[in-house]
Amino acid sequence: MGIVLGIDLGTTNSCMARVDPATGHAQVLPNREGERTTPSVVSFDASGKVTVGTAARRQGALNPRNTFFGVKRLIGRRFSDPAVQQLRRLLPYEVVADPAGNAAVRVHGQLLSPAEVSSHVLRYLKESAEAHLGEPVDGAVITVPAYFDEVQRQETKNAGQRAGLTVHRLLNEPTAAMLACRFDESHPENIAVFDLGGGTFDISLLHVEDEVVQVLATCGDNFLGGDNFDEIVVEALRRIFLKQTGLDLASDPAALWRLKEAAESTKRALSEVEQTTVDMPFLAQGAEGPLHLSIPSFPRSLFENLVGKELERLRGPCDQVLQDADLKVGDIHRVILVGGMTRMPAVRARAEQYLGRPGERTVNPDEAVALGAALEADIVAGTSDEQPQVLLLDVLSRSLGVRTEGGRFSVLIPRNTTIPARETKVFATTFDHQTHVDIEVYQGEASTVDGNRYLGELQLAGLPAAPGGTVRVAVDFTIDADGILHVTAREPATGRKAEARLRPPTASSP
Ligand code: AMP
Repeated sequence: MGIVLGIDLGTTNSCMARVDPATGHAQVLPNREGERTTPSVVSFDASGKVTVGTAARRQGALNPRNTFFGVKRLIGRRFSDPAVQQLRRLLPYEVVADPAGNAAVRVHGQLLSPAEVSSHVLRYLKESAEAHLGEPVDGAVITVPAYFDEVQRQETKNAGQRAGLTVHRLLNEPTAAMLACRFDESHPENIAVFDLGGGTFDISLLHVEDEVVQVLATCGDNFLGGDNFDEIVVEALRRIFLKQTGLDLASDPAALWRLKEAAESTKRALSEVEQTTVDMPFLAQGAEGPLHLSIPSFPRSLFENLVGKELERLRGPCDQVLQDADLKVGDIHRVILVGGMTRMPAVRARAEQYLGRPGERTVNPDEAVALGAALEADIVAGTSDEQPQVLLLDVLSRSLGVRTEGGRFSVLIPRNTTIPARETKVFATTFDHQTHVDIEVYQGEASTVDGNRYLGELQLAGLPAAPGGTVRVAVDFTIDADGILHVTAREPATGRKAEARLRPPTASSP
């Protein structure tokens, strides 16, 4: 097998690593520009040329409608998803529905799926790694938020395949981060991984004992991250500018892009210092010439007040994950901080407040996930002579089941089940002479299917005509190590079988 990379395909930034065969240590590989992380930004010019990373980010101000960032928040989602609708209003590029009703983006009049956009980031990483190593790269272990559902996982895999990578495994980000941190396997420990990145918040509780790592529970908010903090600062800067100049930048995408960059650097600066300045000359053109934004003092306390609601949103998932794992704050032995946003002092304070311990940052929070993925990649590639040190057991983030009579949701595999997993349930036909059954698959926690997400369906036909309730159909759910579901339905008497690997919903789905 050729080289297999560990890739953290992030909302804001991506990072890749691999285990150096000479030293046996995981190391971050630089991109073509020599950077250790790559902005997950893709820009398309009118001639169809694609630019990725920092160069693409620079294009943003000039070409805001065709420069895409944060598409991970759209991947595998329906256009009608409230989260997509909310995001649409904030983004300088166009988010539309594809013919099947999935969220897509429009590039120079053409529709692209978020997975296609992400595949450009992955291809850039692959090619950078090949240039750096001088050898072809053919595979990857790609990380995903623990909270990603079936469709989001499948689409991430598709993005990898489009980039010419064999995706050997999808790994939950918190699990990867934990792998990157050394831990003492000789004592049983409960470890909390608190990961606040650019677009998502994940909190996971892991139990480590006898070289086995088990994810006890995972929770999160896949719409809370540094981007939200940036957007709030953008809004504040826009208001200040409006007050100072009387000009509203709301409909000026190029100026908004610059505000976004300024907001992010203000936020970063305030992690280090108590106050900073904002200076943006020539931000817009007024009736009497160029207009500037100048804020001589932007204190940390102001920033913390502005994002108070976002900070408060960290609490719910922390409480929930403890409840799901049936642990108390006092049962946590270690807290690992991951994601660039954990550099913000107020975020660290919240993590400590909600989890009862100060967080550790033994590994660079931007790189931990990619380093952990590289360790896993080394195991799947079989390049390491050593036996795997740890056996990974992950858990399912949403319950999976089927529709039954009256639109009720019958769970086959409950959330937080350790995966890979398999479960079979036997259902009976409802009507006399019923010769086929439709098995509709959903995920979620609501008791009726209306409250859950439709994943797909399969039909088992050719059943023997018999009175209702007498023909039995065994429905089997198998979840592989990537969290992807395979469904089969079988009628034991005749041996008739139907199977499906669930794909994103099609136009006919609700
Ligand atoms: P990640 O997804 O882990 O790369 O995290 C990226 C997020 O972390 C972005 O929203 C960054 O703006 C944010 N970030 C990076 N460095 C800092 C810092 N020093 N202070 C605050 N936020 C940061």
